[in-house]
Amino acid sequence: MNFDLTEEQQMIRKMIKEFSDEVVAPGAIDRDRTKEFPLEIFKQLSEMGMMGLPFSEEYGGAGADTISFAIVTEELSRACASTGITYSAHISLGGAPINLFGTEEQKHKYLTPICTGESFGAFGLTEPNAGSDAGGTQTTAKIDGDDFVLNGSKVYITNASYAKHLAVTAITGNDNGKKEISAIIVPTDAEGFTVLDKYEKMGLNASNTTELVLDNVRVPRENLLGEQGNGFRQFLVTLDGGRIGIGAMAVGIAQAAFDRALRYSKERKQFGKTLSEFQITQFKLADMAMKIELARNMVHKAAWLKDQGRPFSKEASMCKLYASEIAMQVANEAVQIHGGYGYMKEYEVERYMRDAKLLEIGEGTSEVQRMVIARLIGC
Ligand SMILES: Cc1cc2nc3c(=O)[nH]c(=O)nc-3n(C[C@H](O)[C@H](O)[C@H](O)COP(=O)(O)OP(=O)(O)OC[C@H]3O[C@@H](n4cnc5c(N)ncnc54)[C@H](O)[C@@H]3O)c2cc1C
Repeated sequence: MNFDLTEEQQMIRKMIKEFSDEVVAPGAIDRDRTKEFPLEIFKQLSEMGMMGLPFSEEYGGAGADTISFAIVTEELSRACASTGITYSAHISLGGAPINLFGTEEQKHKYLTPICTGESFGAFGLTEPNAGSDAGGTQTTAKIDGDDFVLNGSKVYITNASYAKHLAVTAITGNDNGKKEISAIIVPTDAEGFTVLDKYEKMGLNASNTTELVLDNVRVPRENLLGEQGNGFRQFLVTLDGGRIGIGAMAVGIAQAAFDRALRYSKERKQFGKTLSEFQITQFKLADMAMKIELARNMVHKAAWLKDQGRPFSKEASMCKLYASEIAMQVANEAVQIHGGYGYMKEYEVERYMRDAKLLEIGEGTSEVQRMVIARLIGC
């Protein structure tokens, strides 16, 4: 048993921590207000070799492990969760399925630009009538000669405005009355493909969340990702990895909320004492610190299992569920410790609360995580 990070992981943490504090954090309040996508930050992350962090050097990646990916996602999210979700989706929803299921040719063509930062990574699964029940997909991909012709729509897709291509799920046939779902790589500049960026969100305002419309979009059959009919299994595997990213984001937001609350509790005086001198505040902060520690351990354990090539679905679900729920609790408590100031944007803690809420919804809601865990513990 060894809880120490390796030298490489420590080095990555030091580098990304400094970058997050010096470059990402300063503009976070403004970006939340203006909804400006953090493009400049990602240009710098590309130069630092972060955009393909866990992917092979053969495709332009850095060949690092999942724990390193979790560390980078946590640190970016601590500074700005919009930057954190953009990064997490880029790697775990955009790059990972191509890395896992793509042919050599597809990896060179589609994973390399993701690793170099030339394209953002995205993944189109959710539809207006297919959310938790992703098998309810209605988008179709009909074979016509050497092409697939796609029709349908996708909702809430992260990063698509900045992606040159993305994998989308679609019905490619019927297997004994059961929908056959496949994943197909679609270039975003294909004719008939429209990306709409019009949502008014509660939080994560500087992240890019889009609606996709596919109107007779024609792509060659060679754009099929993996085997035809394997799309359902592929997105389950993809989401397992994605949940480690969401867990890491949650730890980052919770850590930021805790840091703010601890600092404020030492500055603010009422009844002649600082808030941190009241035992009730100390107990609140102790609980917050304990929950963050537990959540981080769970995220790192799930990431470690994945890196060992061992089953990690249960741990990924558990870390996503636990970390997202404690992130909401910790952010809520941080607002409470700030009193009226906590309700004001300049103190940042209200943003943490708004940003954290998505983590209980995206990549499988808390209810879905409990269903997954129940199944995996043999219920
Ligand atoms: C900001 C943002 C970014 C996103 N990014 C992406 C992305 O990049 N790619 C992508 O494909 N999707 C993305 N999503 C979609 C996200 O994964 C879905 O919103 C999520 O899976 C829930 O689906 P839904 O919104 O349709 O809710 P629904 O499935 O309609 O659920 C509504 C409520 O019902 C509950 N519920 C549903 N079924 C059951 C059940 N069987 N038992 C008990 N309770 C149930 C849910 O837990 C939830 O509380 C994003 C969403 C948001 C908001």
